[in-house]
Amino acid sequence: MGTMEKSTDLVNKINKNTSDITKYLTELNSILEMKAEMLCNGLEISESTIKQIQLKGISFDFGRKGGAGPAGGRYFKFSNGSISNTPLYLSPSNYPNFEIVDITSDLRVILKRKETQLSINNNKLPHKEKSQNGQNSSNLSNLELYLIPTPKFYSLSNKEGIPFKKIALMHGNHTLATTVHQRCRYWRGNQQCKFCGLELSLEQNATIEFKTAEQIIETITMARKENPEFVRHLTLTIGTQPELDKGMRIYQSIVQKLHQQFPNIPIHIQIEPMQDVKWYQILKDVGTSTIGIHLEILDDIVRQKMCPGKSKITKEVYYQHWKEAVRVFEPNQVSTFIITGFEKDIDKFKQELDKILQIGVLPVITPVRIIPGTNLSPHQTDVNNFLEILRFAAKKCIEYNLDPRKNVAGCIRCGGCSPLIDAYKIEILREN
Ligand code: SF4
Repeated sequence: MGTMEKSTDLVNKINKNTSDITKYLTELNSILEMKAEMLCNGLEISESTIKQIQLKGISFDFGRKGGAGPAGGRYFKFSNGSISNTPLYLSPSNYPNFEIVDITSDLRVILKRKETQLSINNNKLPHKEKSQNGQNSSNLSNLELYLIPTPKFYSLSNKEGIPFKKIALMHGNHTLATTVHQRCRYWRGNQQCKFCGLELSLEQNATIEFKTAEQIIETITMARKENPEFVRHLTLTIGTQPELDKGMRIYQSIVQKLHQQFPNIPIHIQIEPMQDVKWYQILKDVGTSTIGIHLEILDDIVRQKMCPGKSKITKEVYYQHWKEAVRVFEPNQVSTFIITGFEKDIDKFKQELDKILQIGVLPVITPVRIIPGTNLSPHQTDVNNFLEILRFAAKKCIEYNLDPRKNVAGCIRCGGCSPLIDAYKIEILREN
């Protein structure tokens, strides 16, 4: 059963009695706020805690260092199934407000707030009693967080002798993700986005340059052999290719083969606007379910600085492509990554975001994350700004009749990097 169905069931099951709803809202708020905290500031862990965890036979490492989406994270799961792709820092570190002090044998994570030294299992709040706009306060006393274990198939190799983890990775516990071609034309000539670690994974020998459909099919089969609940949906990404189609031909061929083999696994692809919008229909026809056309940064001046190559595509072109993609794939199935932490004027940011939502595009709102090896200067997303933006986007989804829970594949559905669904569940419950 998908996350969307589960959450709908849950809402349906709730007795419309006020105290049940208040309790459920408090839990959802706690999860949203803690997830925002973990995404923006990460979690800290000491060498001695890692050893203590490993002695229990729990495999614990710092996760991947590059590739699709924000990197260097480890996946954790809340009690309602919501996942968080969380950056980890070795103690002592200035960033995180929470430290992992233990992981129990059932993989429950015990955290303590660094300043107060209080355990989340017996004390309160990630941030403050009331959020700025007076919404429900969080209560961490019943918040359950679990480590998602490293899949076992990562230690196996395919028939060519390539480790499966170099072909595709589990993002959380239901999404398999891969970069089908790990090169991007902007890396030639120093035009790459400053936050991107795409080719670093190749330099670190963590992946292979090209992934074929056959290799991905083998990896899906192996992942599902380990756990039939793995790979409910697929996320495919690609570096921008030098040809005019910008890699769409590669996607066309791979998606067609994957869809033929696994017609019930929805496939998400991520692109930048290519030259000819006819590709949207072609990609849909071969089996693509959802598409991400990634702007990355809303403010044009910051975008030019952060994405020297990609920002040559104007926002007008993005709008033209988003609209065409929404026409072909329908609302809720088109998304765009929007990185926060660069915005100087949050009201202007919200206005821009509003325009994107208005045309039916869902934003994957993420905190900026610095990948070691990139030349991005220190930036940090303020967790309260992040929450304000998410709550705003969730309310706008309702206003424009969008529902991120209906997204069938990719980053919106996964939610590991962006809690839009978590925020939406709160707002929709308030509405009803
Ligand atoms: S949202 Fe999920 S699928 Fe997308 S990059 Fe993050 S962890 Fe991966």
